[in-house]
Amino acid sequence: MGHHIRLVERLPMTVTEFQRHIEKIYFTRDSERGLSGTFMWFVEEVGELATALREGTDQEIREEIADVFAWLSTLASIKGIEMDEAIQKYATGCPACEAVPCQCGAKE
Ligand SMILES: [Zn+2]
Repeated sequence: MGHHIRLVERLPMTVTEFQRHIEKIYFTRDSERGLSGTFMWFVEEVGELATALREGTDQEIREEIADVFAWLSTLASIKGIEMDEAIQKYATGCPACEAVPCQCGAKE
C-alpha cells in the first residue's frame, strides 16, 4: 500500500481512538520492553524527526511526526495515562497565563 492510497483512504481518529489503536498494535511488546527501553525508541524517533525536518520531504516529515506521536502515546499507555486527559492541560489556553494566544511567553 503506497502513501497516496493511505492519504486518500484516511480514517479520522480522536486522540483516544489513536491511543487505543496503538495499544492494540503494540502494547504487549512495548509494555514487556518497559518504560526505559520504550523511551529510548521514542527519543530515537525524535532524532529521526529532526533529520526529516532538516532535509526530508513533506511525506517523510509526516511519517516521522506519526512515529513520534505513536511512541509518545505508547509511553502514556505504559504509565496508564490517557493522552486525551493529558492534553487538557492546554484546553483553556496557555497553562501559565490561560490566554489564546499566549501573552506571557511561558513556552519559550
Ligand atoms: Zn502564556
